[in-house]
Amino acid sequence: MTGPIHIAIVGSGPSGFYAAEALLRADPRLRVDMFERLPTPFGLVRSGVAPDHPKLKEVCRVFEQIAGLEGFRYFGNLAVGEALSVDELRAAYHAVVLACGASIDRKMGIPGEALPNVHAATEFVGWYNGHPDFRDLTFDLSQETVAIVGHGNVAADVARILAKPVDELRHTDIAAHALEVLAASRVREIEIIGRRGPAQAKFTPRELRELGEIDGCVAVSEAFELDPTCRAELADRGNVNAVKNVESFQRFAVHAELSGKRVLRFRFCLSPRRLFGTAHVEGMTMVRNRLVGPAFAQTAEPTEVTETLACGLVFKSIGYRGQPVVGLPYAAESGTVPHDEGRVVERGCAVAGVYVTGWLKRGATGIIGTNRADSIETVRSLLADLPALSAGGKSGAEALLPAVRARGVAPVSLDGWHRLDAAEMERGRVAGKPREKFTRVAEMLAVVGEGLA
Ligand code: NAP
Repeated sequence: MTGPIHIAIVGSGPSGFYAAEALLRADPRLRVDMFERLPTPFGLVRSGVAPDHPKLKEVCRVFEQIAGLEGFRYFGNLAVGEALSVDELRAAYHAVVLACGASIDRKMGIPGEALPNVHAATEFVGWYNGHPDFRDLTFDLSQETVAIVGHGNVAADVARILAKPVDELRHTDIAAHALEVLAASRVREIEIIGRRGPAQAKFTPRELRELGEIDGCVAVSEAFELDPTCRAELADRGNVNAVKNVESFQRFAVHAELSGKRVLRFRFCLSPRRLFGTAHVEGMTMVRNRLVGPAFAQTAEPTEVTETLACGLVFKSIGYRGQPVVGLPYAAESGTVPHDEGRVVERGCAVAGVYVTGWLKRGATGIIGTNRADSIETVRSLLADLPALSAGGKSGAEALLPAVRARGVAPVSLDGWHRLDAAEMERGRVAGKPREKFTRVAEMLAVVGEGLA
C-alpha cells in the first residue's frame, strides 16, 4: 500500500507520545492522530508530577517536538468511550493504540474506607496539580495528624507537599486553589505506613532522601531490624535502590530534635484493618505484619498484634489501576489490558489492529522514561502487522469528526493547545510562577476558542 496509513493513539501521556514518535520515525506513510479526553496534553506529566519537581516536567519539550513531526495531529477534549467509541476508531483507522494509563486508585477493602477525610492519594495529587476532575474536592488540612498508606513515590510526593513550607511552593506551577489551602494547613505529624519492611519500600532513593531534607521538618523512622532474608535481598548487586533506602531509614532512625517541627514518621510492617470515626475519620486500627517467604518474594503476614493510630486525615497511596475500555478485554486482577508484546489479546487471540502501551499495558510501575521502551515494543509489533493492517481503505479522523461535532463536542487542535499553553504561562508570569494552570474545562475551551467550527 502506498497511501497514508492512519493510526489512532488514545491518550496523550508519555506512553502515547513515545508511541507516536516510534511510529512517525519508522515509516513516512504513517499518520498519527492522538486523542485526549482533556483539552490539555501530557497526562501525568502535567497532572501527576509534583509541582516542586520541575525538572521532571522538562520532558514536555520532547513531547512538543514529537507533536511537531510531520503526520502528527492532536485532538484534545475528545473522550474515547464518550464522544466516540473504540469501535468507531477501529472502523476509521488501520490501527488503534491504547495509551490511556491507569486512572483508578486501588481500594484497601476495609471498613471505614468511605468515611469523610479518607482520600485516594490520586485525588490529592490531581487537586494540587489543577486537574479539572479534582478541582472541586476539599481536603481538611485543619487536622494535625495525617496517615499516608503506602511506601511508593506517590506517597512520597503527597508527604512532601504536606510537609514543605508553603513558601517553597509559591513559585512552582501548583494550582492556586491548593496553595491557598496549604498556606492555612495545621498538619504537624505525617505517618507514612508500609505493609512490608524498609528493605521492600518502593520509594526511589532520591525521593526518599529528599523527605529527610525538608526545612522545618524532621524525618523519623521507626526502629527496625533486618532479618537474614532481608539481608540477603540487600546483598544482591541488583538491589542498589533498597540499600540506599535502608541507609536513609537508618539515618532517620537516629534520635532527632522534634520540637516545633513538622514530623514525617515512617512505619513498617503495618496494615490498616479498620478506619473509624463519626463525622470524619478519627483513627485507624492496624495489624502488625511479619515478613514471610523467600528473598524478593516476601509478603506481609498478619500477626495477632494490633495498634491504633489517631489521625484525622488519611491518604491511600497503594497504587493505580487502568480503567476497562468498553468492548475490549480487561484483566480485573491487575487492572490492565491483556496483551502479547503490545498486541491486545482476547481468549488467546490477538484483537486485530488494537494495541496497548504504558500503564494500561504493564500496570502502574516505572518512571516516565520506562514508557519509551514499552511503547517501542508495542510499535514494533504494530509495524510487523502493517502488511495485514494496511490492506483496507481507511481515512482517519476525517471520517469521524462530523459525527463528533454533531454530538456537540469541539475537539482542541495542537494550535488550540498552544494558545492555552501561552495563556497559562502569561498568567504564571504575572503570578511569579512558571505557569498558572486553568483548572476548569470550560475556561480552557474559552481560551482555545475553536468552538464547533
Ligand atoms: P507503588 O510504587 O507501586 O507503591 C505502592 C505502595 O503501596 C507499596 O508500598 C505497596 O506495598 C503498597 N500497597 C499496595 N497494596 C497495598 C495494600 N492493600 N495495603 C497496604 N499497602 C499496599 O505505587 P505508587 O506510589 O502509586 O507509584 C506508581 C508508579 O509511579 C511507581 O512506579 C512510581 O515510581 C511512579 N512515580 C514516580 C515518581 C517519581 O519518579 N518522582 C513520582 C510518583 C510516582 P508492597 O510493596 O507490599 O506491594
